[in-house]
This record gives sequence, structure tokens and C-alpha cells, in this order.
Amino acid sequence: MNQPNQTLRQQVLDRVADCFSLAAQKLDREFAPPVVHFNQRGRIAGSAWLERWELRFNPVLLADNEAEFMAEIIPHEVAHLVAFACFGRVKPHGREWQSIMLSIFGLQPRTRHRLNTAKVAPTFAYDCGCRQHRLSLRRHNNIQRGKQRYQCLHCNKLLSLSKIS
Ligand SMILES: [Zn+2]
Ligand SMILES: [Zn+2]
Repeated sequence: MNQPNQTLRQQVLDRVADCFSLAAQKLDREFAPPVVHFNQRGRIAGSAWLERWELRFNPVLLADNEAEFMAEIIPHEVAHLVAFACFGRVKPHGREWQSIMLSIFGLQPRTRHRLNTAKVAPTFAYDCGCRQHRLSLRRHNNIQRGKQRYQCLHCNKLLSLSKIS
């Protein structure tokens, strides 16, 4: 897996540390620095592992979206750890997390990123009749080669490749 270069890696670690010191200051308490890995895959920008006290960032998305990571993705994931430290296991994007995003980081608590995902694995649009599904290249190939069929969990119809993608 491609790892970010030393400079970018350090920028991420610094931003994580800044977010925590801001939280420490506003909440008047201390936080241990988390473990940070660059091993998140797919279309997910980052994830927070609460009990492990660990953050994982996607190196492919990071390389193409540095500004968004610094501005939003990193505070978003740090806010999950802060929420866990202060409130325990709460809803991932619930009130506690939202209030940390707003009042500590001054950010709108959005839960979906709008990153450039051109370089991560493509997905394929499939329809069942009730909604659109995004399938991975592996699943798409399985269907097209007749090795596997996939059903919609909601309407039970078989998925077929969308006419419009
Ligand atoms: Zn989140
Ligand atoms: Zn369906």
C-alpha cells in the first residue's frame, strides 16, 4: 500500500495533535495522543477506532485531497475519539459528536465527504427496481462472468447493471 511521504505524514500528525490540543483546551482535560495509521482502503477517507484509540487514514485519498483532510476529515475523525473519551460509546454521528464538531472545531457536522475519488477502486451502478446500488469491480466482474448474482436486501430482486451510470 502506498504510504504518504514524510512531509505529508507529518502534516497529518501535526493536524491530529492540533485538534486534540484544541479539544483539551476547550474541554479542560487531557487526551493521550492516538495511534495513527495510513491503511484505510476503498472510498472511506478515514476511520476512528475507539477502544484502540487509533485513527486510520486513506493514503490514496489523502494524496489527492490534502486540503480537505486538513480542513475536515482529520477533525471529523478526532471528534469521534473525543466523543468516546468524554461520553463513552455514543451514536457515531450523534449529538455529542456533532457538538464537538461545531463548538470545538467550528465545523458543520457533515457525515459524507466530497473528495476526489478518481484513483480509488471504481464502482459500478446497479439497479434492482427500488434503488441504486454501487458495486465493487470484483462484484461487477463476478456478475458479468456469470459466477455470482446479487440480490437487493430490500426488494429481493436481482441486481442488474444500470443503463445510466
Ligand atoms: Zn464519522
Ligand atoms: Zn431493491
